[in-house]
Amino acid sequence: MNLEIIKAIKGLLDIPQKIVIIPHKNPDGDAIGSTLGLWHYLKGQGQDATIIVPNDFPKFLKWMPGSEQIVNFERDASAAKSLINNATVIFTLDFNHLGRIGQLQPLLEGSSATFVMIDHHQEPDNYSKITYSDVSMSSTCEMVFNVIEGLNDVESITPDLAISLYTGIMTDTGSFKYSSTTSRTHLVVAKLIEKGAKNTEAHNKVYDTNTPSRLHLLGCALKNMVILEEFNTAFITLSQDELDTYDYKKGDTEGFVNYGLTLEGIVFAVIFIENREEGIIKISFRSEGDFSVNEFARANFNGGGHTNAAGGRSDVSMEETINKFKALLPLYKADLNA
Ligand code: 5GP
Ligand code: MN
Repeated sequence: MNLEIIKAIKGLLDIPQKIVIIPHKNPDGDAIGSTLGLWHYLKGQGQDATIIVPNDFPKFLKWMPGSEQIVNFERDASAAKSLINNATVIFTLDFNHLGRIGQLQPLLEGSSATFVMIDHHQEPDNYSKITYSDVSMSSTCEMVFNVIEGLNDVESITPDLAISLYTGIMTDTGSFKYSSTTSRTHLVVAKLIEKGAKNTEAHNKVYDTNTPSRLHLLGCALKNMVILEEFNTAFITLSQDELDTYDYKKGDTEGFVNYGLTLEGIVFAVIFIENREEGIIKISFRSEGDFSVNEFARANFNGGGHTNAAGGRSDVSMEETINKFKALLPLYKADLNA
């Protein structure tokens, strides 16, 4: 990676700092894995560091070493505020514009800390003094590894640090299957296993801890799936009532959107999930091949992400959202190879 970035990070860490590390709202495996990985590293270097999440994260990530020490802004706003106010350095991980951190946004905008961005999403904003942004990376976790390597500290990687980064690379690559997975990704993962990451354990703890109600919710989602062959598209809806019926817990719908893509010929899969409390429909977009869901989400649903995985939201009802979505598809017919 870029030597200037490494030099700048090294310059920051040469002296004791008060560091806060922040991932995006609704943190996923890469967000939690990368913040924990960096946190273990910084603690190992004797730095004062704390992770603050904008809101809670799924139970299937709570086994990760150090996760119990993460400060949840929604639960502990005053502790989070004073940590941010006193911070000299703020690392923002796995996102690239401050609109992605919910209620934390005004606090970060008011901070005089030095900002470091480590992220692999498209079109980064310019709020950070040090910006390590690379859309070709499989995951933010792989980038944290690159930073540690750039600082010549790979040998200091502990098993706790290794499993954190391993887990985020695993979840962001769909278990090493997406096209962002490179030979370099595998070399990094090999090194992490060598440094003590228990790989099978990570897979079991993330993917094999279903509850019966989650599988029933999946059944409901698959029943609701609508296939629009004309546009090589499949979409799923889940209403708040359906979520309530199946005792929805945070993280339960993770991965559901991908089932659409397992259909032969389908290149665009979407899930619309009602959130009555926030008054929104949260949307996940996935694609296979060249169709950019990042552009689709950005242009139409106030979102963004990567070429093949993006998210967004809608502030109108489920019915209106679906009507809008269906009305958009003809405009993208050529891009969908339909
Ligand atoms: P997911 O669908 O799993 O929530 O997110 C897929 C990808 O899109 C992730 O990389 C995530 O960071 C990004 N993403 C999800 N929701 C949003 C959103 O509302 N805005 C933007 N800009 N990106 C999002
Ligand atoms: Mn990521």
